[in-house]
Amino acid sequence: MAKTTGETCTFCGRSSRNVGLLINGISGAICDECAQQAYEIVKEQMPASKSSFGLNQKELPKPEDIKKFLDQYVIGQDDAKRYLAVSVYNHYKRLLQKVSTDDVEIEKSNIIMVGATGTGKTLLARTIAKLLHVPFSIVDATVLTEAGYVGEDIESILTRLLQAADYDVEAAQRGIVFIDEIDKIARKSDNPSITRDVSGEGVQQGLLKLLEGSIVNVPPQGGRKHPEQKMIPVDTKNILFVCGGAFDGIEKKIAKRLNTRVVGYSANKEQATIDRNNLLKYITPTDLKSFGLIPEIIGRLPILTYLNPLDRKTLRNILTEPKNSIIKQYVKLFEMDGIKLTFDEAVYEYIVDKALEFKLGARGLRSIVEAVMMDAMYTMPSQNKDELHVTLEYAKEQFEKSDVNRLQIA
Ligand code: ADP
Repeated sequence: MAKTTGETCTFCGRSSRNVGLLINGISGAICDECAQQAYEIVKEQMPASKSSFGLNQKELPKPEDIKKFLDQYVIGQDDAKRYLAVSVYNHYKRLLQKVSTDDVEIEKSNIIMVGATGTGKTLLARTIAKLLHVPFSIVDATVLTEAGYVGEDIESILTRLLQAADYDVEAAQRGIVFIDEIDKIARKSDNPSITRDVSGEGVQQGLLKLLEGSIVNVPPQGGRKHPEQKMIPVDTKNILFVCGGAFDGIEKKIAKRLNTRVVGYSANKEQATIDRNNLLKYITPTDLKSFGLIPEIIGRLPILTYLNPLDRKTLRNILTEPKNSIIKQYVKLFEMDGIKLTFDEAVYEYIVDKALEFKLGARGLRSIVEAVMMDAMYTMPSQNKDELHVTLEYAKEQFEKSDVNRLQIA
């Protein structure tokens, strides 16, 4: 007699009592073990045209698409966006490349972005992560020290990536890591041997291993290596590294190289065309070397790009233009309480003025808006009003009574 669905596995014939779990279909059932095996087969036999990250060459976002996407969230910084877009696109192409028959192997091009703090380096990295189909993580180089010292081992960079990939090692191995504040591991002095440079050159040497592409044993939970912790081997060959740093003071080195002074007048025609307000534009690998990055690291970060300082107009745009701009976020917050929030144009100008006055850059815009809106956010939800129009007088009054000094320190 044929057994009815629900009692035996259609694939192996074992009864529900002899398996862990039996999943019923319309005209059959599958046990947990057969399901597992089926999954393995599917994984192995997946059509080669679809890569392991689910995109084929046709579906890849093109560099121009990537830039357009970035444009929705990040104001300006066109050069950095273009470099980033091309690098990410090429990263995907490398992942798609089949075993080459012509000996041409596309090498990865890690990126380094140089720009003052608060100009959008992290924002660019975060935004690109939204678009990606590969695991992505952000780590801060300041916490890294040489093994054996207080701080985190270099390998912990990959722990974050593993976590982002839900411990799927294969996925992590084609991910992207953003290393912030790379300038903080620069060699402190041109003479490498005066004292132990715990968080400088030693860390750079450690980082080099990762950038070069090697198999690294990663502690799954991060932190210090522990004898009892089982390490996960991760191959970094296909991981794309994007580094960012402010490199405070590098302008002086650039200026020196350009044989011009930051303040002064130019002697010849060529120098006359140099934009002294934005010397980062002229950055070369040599400047990174004079700043204290070792040549081997610089060699492993072949794509060097810069971010522009944020001028008044850019700050003004940042306030309202990006898809999730600060002002749009506040409008939404109030909307959730049924309140229509509007601003006088002069308020925006005032907020930008204050950000410039306190030298807070884009990061300060939020703190200033927060100060202006605090009172209203506190009282309005319990009042029966459905509208709030912020005038310049109101903004000034609110900002002045807020703890301005606190902002200066922030
Ligand atoms: P960095 O990493 O360069 O120090 P961030 O990317 O963290 O700076 O920028 C700090 C904040 O300033 C961001 O969260 C964002 O709100 C704002 N910001 C900075 N630059 C831009 C920009 N170009 N476009 C839009 N917002 C920006």
